[in-house]
Amino acid sequence: MNATFVTLARNIDVWEVAKSIRRVEDRFNHNYNYDWVFLNNEDFNDEFKEVTSALISGKAKYGKIPEEHWSFPEFVDQERAAKVREDMKEKNVIYGDSVSYRHMCRYESGFFFRHPLMLNYDWYWRVEPGIELHCDIKYDTFRFMAEHKKKYSFVISLYEYIETIPTLWEVTKTFIKKFPEHIANGNSLKFVSDDDGENYNRCHFWSNFEIGDLNWLRSKPYIDYFETLDNAGGFFYERWGDAPVHSLAAALMLKKEEIHFFDEIAYFHNPFTHCPSNKQYRLANNCYCNPNENFDWQDYSCTARFYKLNNMVPVKDLNQH
Ligand code: GDP
Ligand code: MN
Repeated sequence: MNATFVTLARNIDVWEVAKSIRRVEDRFNHNYNYDWVFLNNEDFNDEFKEVTSALISGKAKYGKIPEEHWSFPEFVDQERAAKVREDMKEKNVIYGDSVSYRHMCRYESGFFFRHPLMLNYDWYWRVEPGIELHCDIKYDTFRFMAEHKKKYSFVISLYEYIETIPTLWEVTKTFIKKFPEHIANGNSLKFVSDDDGENYNRCHFWSNFEIGDLNWLRSKPYIDYFETLDNAGGFFYERWGDAPVHSLAAALMLKKEEIHFFDEIAYFHNPFTHCPSNKQYRLANNCYCNPNENFDWQDYSCTARFYKLNNMVPVKDLNQH
Protein backbone atom coordinates (compact mmCIF):
# COMPACT_ATOMS: atom_id res chain seq x y z
CA MET A 1 0.00 0.00 0.00
CA ASN A 2 1.09 3.56 -0.60
CA ALA A 3 1.27 4.37 3.10
CA THR A 4 3.51 5.78 5.79
CA PHE A 5 3.79 6.24 9.51
CA VAL A 6 4.05 9.88 10.53
CA THR A 7 5.42 11.29 13.78
CA LEU A 8 5.70 14.91 14.82
CA ALA A 9 8.47 15.25 17.38
CA ARG A 10 11.25 17.31 18.91
CA ASN A 11 14.85 16.13 19.19
CA ILE A 12 14.41 15.72 22.97
CA ASP A 13 11.59 13.22 22.32
CA VAL A 14 14.04 10.76 20.74
CA TRP A 15 13.87 8.01 23.40
CA GLU A 16 10.10 8.07 23.73
CA VAL A 17 9.88 8.00 19.93
CA ALA A 18 12.32 5.07 19.88
CA LYS A 19 10.02 3.19 22.25
CA SER A 20 7.00 3.80 20.01
CA ILE A 21 8.89 2.69 16.90
CA ARG A 22 10.04 -0.53 18.58
CA ARG A 23 6.41 -1.32 19.54
CA VAL A 24 5.11 -0.63 16.04
CA GLU A 25 7.89 -2.62 14.39
CA ASP A 26 7.60 -5.65 16.69
CA ARG A 27 3.81 -5.82 16.57
CA PHE A 28 3.21 -4.90 12.94
CA ASN A 29 5.72 -3.26 10.67
CA HIS A 30 8.42 -5.95 10.62
CA ASN A 31 5.99 -7.80 8.32
CA TYR A 32 5.23 -4.82 6.06
CA ASN A 33 8.23 -2.44 6.11
CA TYR A 34 6.24 0.73 5.61
CA ASP A 35 8.07 4.09 5.53
CA TRP A 36 8.15 6.53 8.41
CA VAL A 37 8.03 10.31 8.05
CA PHE A 38 9.27 12.50 10.92
CA LEU A 39 8.32 16.15 11.06
CA ASN A 40 9.73 18.88 13.27
CA ASN A 41 9.57 22.67 13.46
CA GLU A 42 13.37 22.59 13.90
CA ASP A 43 16.07 20.52 12.18
CA PHE A 44 16.36 16.96 13.43
CA ASN A 45 19.82 16.32 14.87
CA ASP A 46 22.10 13.40 14.01
CA GLU A 47 21.26 11.48 17.17
CA PHE A 48 17.53 11.55 16.41
CA LYS A 49 18.08 10.39 12.84
CA GLU A 50 20.61 7.70 13.77
CA VAL A 51 18.56 6.17 16.59
CA THR A 52 15.22 6.17 14.77
CA SER A 53 16.40 5.06 11.32
CA ALA A 54 18.24 2.08 12.86
CA LEU A 55 14.94 0.81 14.33
CA ILE A 56 12.73 1.23 11.27
CA SER A 57 12.34 -1.59 8.73
CA GLY A 58 11.05 0.77 6.03
CA LYS A 59 12.57 4.01 4.79
CA ALA A 60 12.87 6.85 7.34
CA LYS A 61 12.44 10.42 6.13
CA TYR A 62 13.02 13.64 8.06
CA GLY A 63 11.30 16.90 7.25
CA LYS A 64 11.38 20.44 8.54
CA ILE A 65 8.10 22.28 8.85
CA PRO A 66 7.99 25.54 6.90
CA GLU A 67 7.87 28.59 9.15
CA GLU A 68 4.48 29.75 7.82
CA HIS A 69 2.88 26.48 9.01
CA TRP A 70 4.23 26.90 12.55
CA SER A 71 3.62 30.56 13.39
CA PHE A 72 0.85 33.02 14.12
CA PRO A 73 -1.25 34.04 11.11
CA GLU A 74 -0.91 37.79 10.56
CA PHE A 75 -4.46 38.64 11.64
CA VAL A 76 -4.05 37.18 15.13
CA ASP A 77 -4.14 39.87 17.82
CA GLN A 78 -1.07 39.06 19.93
CA GLU A 79 -2.32 40.88 23.01
CA ARG A 80 -5.61 39.04 22.98
CA ALA A 81 -3.84 35.69 22.48
CA ALA A 82 -1.41 36.41 25.35
CA LYS A 83 -4.28 37.38 27.66
CA VAL A 84 -6.03 34.09 26.89
CA ARG A 85 -2.88 32.14 27.78
CA GLU A 86 -2.62 33.97 31.11
CA ASP A 87 -6.27 33.32 31.94
CA MET A 88 -5.97 29.65 31.04
CA LYS A 89 -2.84 29.33 33.17
CA GLU A 90 -4.76 30.65 36.16
CA LYS A 91 -7.58 28.21 35.49
CA ASN A 92 -5.10 25.33 35.13
CA VAL A 93 -6.35 24.45 31.64
CA ILE A 94 -4.11 21.68 30.31
CA TYR A 95 -1.45 23.24 27.98
CA GLY A 96 -3.52 26.45 28.31
CA ASP A 97 -0.47 28.71 28.61
CA SER A 98 1.56 27.04 25.84
CA VAL A 99 2.29 28.70 22.50
CA SER A 100 4.09 25.67 21.04
CA TYR A 101 1.20 23.33 21.87
CA ARG A 102 -1.12 25.65 19.93
CA HIS A 103 1.20 25.62 16.91
CA MET A 104 1.28 21.81 17.19
CA CYS A 105 -2.53 21.52 17.26
CA ARG A 106 -2.91 23.87 14.30
CA TYR A 107 -0.22 21.98 12.36
CA GLU A 108 -1.83 18.59 12.99
CA SER A 109 -5.23 20.06 12.08
CA GLY A 110 -4.29 21.72 8.84
CA PHE A 111 -0.83 21.07 7.50
CA PHE A 112 0.95 17.75 8.18
CA PHE A 113 -0.80 16.03 5.26
CA ARG A 114 0.42 18.78 2.90
CA HIS A 115 4.09 18.55 3.86
CA PRO A 116 6.17 17.75 0.73
CA LEU A 117 7.30 14.42 2.27
CA MET A 118 3.64 13.37 2.70
CA LEU A 119 2.41 14.29 -0.76
CA ASN A 120 3.41 11.00 -2.38
CA TYR A 121 1.43 8.88 0.08
CA ASP A 122 -2.28 7.99 0.16
CA TRP A 123 -2.51 6.65 3.72
CA TYR A 124 -1.01 7.60 7.09
CA TRP A 125 -0.76 6.13 10.55
CA ARG A 126 0.00 8.71 13.22
CA VAL A 127 2.30 7.60 16.03
CA GLU A 128 3.17 9.67 19.08
CA PRO A 129 6.08 9.25 21.49
CA GLY A 130 5.67 6.84 24.41
CA ILE A 131 2.79 4.68 23.20
CA GLU A 132 2.26 0.96 23.77
CA LEU A 133 0.78 -1.71 21.50
CA HIS A 134 -0.27 -4.75 23.54
CA CYS A 135 -1.18 -7.21 20.78
CA ASP A 136 0.25 -8.44 17.50
CA ILE A 137 -1.43 -6.92 14.46
CA LYS A 138 -1.48 -9.72 11.92
CA TYR A 139 -3.15 -8.00 8.99
CA ASP A 140 -2.39 -4.93 6.91
CA THR A 141 -4.42 -2.15 8.51
CA PHE A 142 -3.87 0.14 5.51
CA ARG A 143 -5.19 -2.48 3.11
CA PHE A 144 -8.14 -3.01 5.44
CA MET A 145 -8.94 0.72 5.27
CA ALA A 146 -8.82 0.75 1.47
CA GLU A 147 -10.73 -2.49 0.95
CA HIS A 148 -13.51 -1.47 3.33
CA LYS A 149 -13.69 2.10 1.97
CA LYS A 150 -12.68 3.64 5.32
CA LYS A 151 -11.26 7.15 5.51
CA TYR A 152 -10.66 7.73 9.20
CA SER A 153 -10.20 5.48 12.22
CA PHE A 154 -9.74 5.51 15.99
CA VAL A 155 -9.18 3.30 19.02
CA ILE A 156 -10.13 5.63 21.90
CA SER A 157 -12.79 8.32 22.08
CA LEU A 158 -13.64 10.69 24.92
CA TYR A 159 -15.04 14.10 25.92
CA GLU A 160 -13.06 17.28 25.26
CA TYR A 161 -12.44 19.90 27.96
CA ILE A 162 -14.96 22.64 27.21
CA GLU A 163 -12.50 25.37 28.32
CA THR A 164 -10.35 24.60 25.27
CA ILE A 165 -13.13 24.82 22.66
CA PRO A 166 -15.92 27.19 23.85
CA THR A 167 -16.74 28.53 20.35
CA LEU A 168 -15.58 25.62 18.14
CA TRP A 169 -19.13 24.44 17.56
CA GLU A 170 -20.48 27.94 16.78
CA VAL A 171 -17.79 28.35 14.12
CA THR A 172 -18.51 24.84 12.84
CA LYS A 173 -22.17 25.80 12.46
CA THR A 174 -21.22 28.80 10.31
CA PHE A 175 -19.20 26.36 8.17
CA ILE A 176 -22.24 24.05 7.81
CA LYS A 177 -24.37 27.02 6.69
CA LYS A 178 -21.75 28.31 4.27
CA PHE A 179 -20.85 24.93 2.73
CA PRO A 180 -23.93 22.70 2.95
CA GLU A 181 -22.59 20.75 -0.03
CA HIS A 182 -19.71 19.48 2.14
CA ILE A 183 -21.99 17.81 4.69
CA ALA A 184 -22.39 14.07 4.02
CA ASN A 185 -25.70 12.25 3.89
CA GLY A 186 -25.75 9.51 6.51
CA ASN A 187 -22.98 11.13 8.56
CA SER A 188 -22.14 10.74 12.27
CA LEU A 189 -23.72 13.98 13.53
CA LYS A 190 -25.34 11.92 16.29
CA PHE A 191 -21.87 10.99 17.60
CA VAL A 192 -21.02 14.64 18.26
CA SER A 193 -24.43 16.12 19.06
CA ASP A 194 -27.34 14.95 21.22
CA ASP A 195 -29.79 17.56 19.91
CA ASP A 196 -29.54 17.37 16.12
CA GLY A 197 -26.65 19.79 15.83
CA GLU A 198 -27.77 22.54 18.19
CA ASN A 199 -24.92 21.80 20.62
CA TYR A 200 -21.66 19.84 20.59
CA ASN A 201 -21.57 17.03 23.15
CA ARG A 202 -17.71 17.25 23.23
CA CYS A 203 -17.18 13.69 21.94
CA HIS A 204 -14.06 13.24 19.87
CA PHE A 205 -11.72 10.56 18.58
CA TRP A 206 -8.36 10.66 20.35
CA SER A 207 -6.05 11.73 17.54
CA ASN A 208 -2.72 10.59 18.98
CA PHE A 209 -3.68 7.37 17.16
CA GLU A 210 -5.05 7.72 13.65
CA ILE A 211 -5.00 5.66 10.51
CA GLY A 212 -6.50 7.72 7.75
CA ASP A 213 -6.87 8.74 4.16
CA LEU A 214 -4.51 11.61 3.28
CA ASN A 215 -6.50 12.46 0.16
CA TRP A 216 -9.55 13.10 2.29
CA LEU A 217 -7.57 15.58 4.43
CA ARG A 218 -6.27 17.19 1.24
CA SER A 219 -9.79 17.44 -0.26
CA LYS A 220 -11.67 20.72 -0.70
CA PRO A 221 -14.28 19.97 1.99
CA TYR A 222 -11.64 19.33 4.65
CA ILE A 223 -9.50 22.30 3.61
CA ASP A 224 -12.55 24.59 3.55
CA TYR A 225 -13.33 23.44 7.09
CA PHE A 226 -9.77 23.98 8.31
CA GLU A 227 -9.62 27.44 6.76
CA THR A 228 -12.95 28.44 8.28
CA LEU A 229 -11.62 27.42 11.70
CA ASP A 230 -8.21 29.00 11.18
CA ASN A 231 -9.71 32.32 10.10
CA ALA A 232 -11.81 32.38 13.27
CA GLY A 233 -8.56 32.41 15.28
CA GLY A 234 -9.61 29.75 17.79
CA PHE A 235 -6.32 27.87 17.67
CA PHE A 236 -4.86 30.95 19.43
CA TYR A 237 -7.84 32.74 21.07
CA GLU A 238 -8.90 29.43 22.59
CA ARG A 239 -6.88 26.21 22.52
CA TRP A 240 -8.57 24.09 19.88
CA GLY A 241 -7.07 20.60 19.71
CA ASP A 242 -6.54 18.69 16.48
CA ALA A 243 -8.59 15.83 17.95
CA PRO A 244 -11.94 17.66 18.04
CA VAL A 245 -11.12 19.29 14.70
CA HIS A 246 -10.45 15.97 12.93
CA SER A 247 -13.39 14.39 14.72
CA LEU A 248 -15.94 17.05 13.80
CA ALA A 249 -14.70 16.97 10.22
CA ALA A 250 -15.04 13.18 10.07
CA ALA A 251 -18.41 13.17 11.83
CA LEU A 252 -19.92 15.77 9.48
CA MET A 253 -18.21 15.20 6.14
CA LEU A 254 -17.79 11.42 5.99
CA LYS A 255 -20.50 8.81 5.72
CA LYS A 256 -20.74 6.96 9.00
CA GLU A 257 -19.49 3.73 7.38
CA GLU A 258 -16.26 5.55 6.46
CA ILE A 259 -15.14 5.86 10.10
CA HIS A 260 -13.63 2.70 11.58
CA PHE A 261 -13.13 1.59 15.17
CA PHE A 262 -9.99 -0.60 15.35
CA ASP A 263 -11.04 -2.82 18.26
CA GLU A 264 -8.17 -5.22 17.42
CA ILE A 265 -5.47 -2.59 18.03
CA ALA A 266 -4.59 -2.73 21.73
CA TYR A 267 -3.20 0.69 22.53
CA PHE A 268 -1.99 2.86 25.36
CA HIS A 269 -1.28 6.58 25.32
CA ASN A 270 -1.05 8.11 28.75
CA PRO A 271 -3.42 7.87 30.60
CA PHE A 272 -5.86 5.63 28.67
CA THR A 273 -5.80 2.04 27.41
CA HIS A 274 -7.82 0.36 24.73
CA CYS A 275 -7.77 -3.41 25.32
CA PRO A 276 -9.74 -5.64 22.91
CA SER A 277 -12.81 -7.01 24.65
CA ASN A 278 -12.67 -10.40 22.97
CA LYS A 279 -10.75 -12.87 25.14
CA GLN A 280 -10.26 -15.33 22.28
CA TYR A 281 -8.65 -12.56 20.26
CA ARG A 282 -6.34 -11.58 23.11
CA LEU A 283 -5.16 -15.15 23.63
CA ALA A 284 -4.50 -15.67 19.93
CA ASN A 285 -2.50 -12.48 19.40
CA ASN A 286 0.09 -12.28 22.19
CA CYS A 287 -1.80 -9.56 24.04
CA TYR A 288 -0.74 -8.44 27.49
CA CYS A 289 -3.20 -5.62 28.27
CA ASN A 290 -5.48 -5.95 31.29
CA PRO A 291 -9.09 -6.01 30.03
CA ASN A 292 -10.18 -4.35 33.27
CA GLU A 293 -8.22 -1.28 32.23
CA ASN A 294 -10.10 -1.00 28.93
CA PHE A 295 -11.42 2.56 28.64
CA ASP A 296 -14.18 1.87 26.08
CA TRP A 297 -17.10 1.32 28.46
CA GLN A 298 -16.09 3.80 31.14
CA ASP A 299 -18.18 6.92 31.70
CA TYR A 300 -15.69 9.29 30.14
CA SER A 301 -15.50 7.33 26.87
CA CYS A 302 -17.72 8.11 23.87
CA THR A 303 -17.23 4.71 22.23
CA ALA A 304 -20.60 3.38 23.43
CA ARG A 305 -22.23 6.20 21.44
CA PHE A 306 -20.28 5.14 18.35
CA TYR A 307 -21.49 1.55 18.82
CA LYS A 308 -25.08 2.70 19.20
CA LEU A 309 -24.98 4.96 16.15
CA ASN A 310 -23.58 2.13 14.04
CA ASN A 311 -25.81 -0.60 15.49
CA MET A 312 -22.79 -2.48 16.83
CA VAL A 313 -23.00 -4.86 19.81
CA PRO A 314 -20.19 -4.55 22.38
CA VAL A 315 -18.23 -7.80 22.64
CA LYS A 316 -18.18 -7.35 26.42
CA ASP A 317 -21.88 -8.18 26.36
CA LEU A 318 -21.12 -11.44 24.59
CA ASN A 319 -18.06 -13.07 26.12
CA GLN A 320 -15.78 -10.93 28.26
CA HIS A 321 -13.50 -12.95 30.58
P1 GDP B 1 -0.35 15.28 24.42
O1 GDP B 1 -0.37 13.87 23.89
O2 GDP B 1 -1.60 16.04 24.07
O3 GDP B 1 -0.02 15.35 25.88
O4 GDP B 1 0.81 16.10 23.66
P2 GDP B 1 2.28 15.63 23.19
O5 GDP B 1 3.30 16.31 24.02
O6 GDP B 1 2.37 14.14 23.04
O7 GDP B 1 2.33 16.32 21.74
C1 GDP B 1 1.58 15.82 20.67
C2 GDP B 1 2.50 15.51 19.49
O8 GDP B 1 3.11 16.70 19.03
C3 GDP B 1 3.64 14.55 19.82
O9 GDP B 1 3.91 13.78 18.66
C4 GDP B 1 4.79 15.48 20.15
O10 GDP B 1 6.02 14.87 19.89
C5 GDP B 1 4.51 16.63 19.19
N1 GDP B 1 4.92 17.96 19.69
C6 GDP B 1 4.39 18.65 20.73
N2 GDP B 1 4.97 19.86 20.86
C7 GDP B 1 5.90 19.95 19.87
C8 GDP B 1 6.84 20.97 19.48
O11 GDP B 1 6.93 22.05 20.05
N3 GDP B 1 7.63 20.68 18.40
C9 GDP B 1 7.57 19.49 17.72
N4 GDP B 1 8.38 19.30 16.69
N5 GDP B 1 6.69 18.52 18.07
C10 GDP B 1 5.87 18.74 19.13
MN1 MN C 1 1.04 12.53 23.23
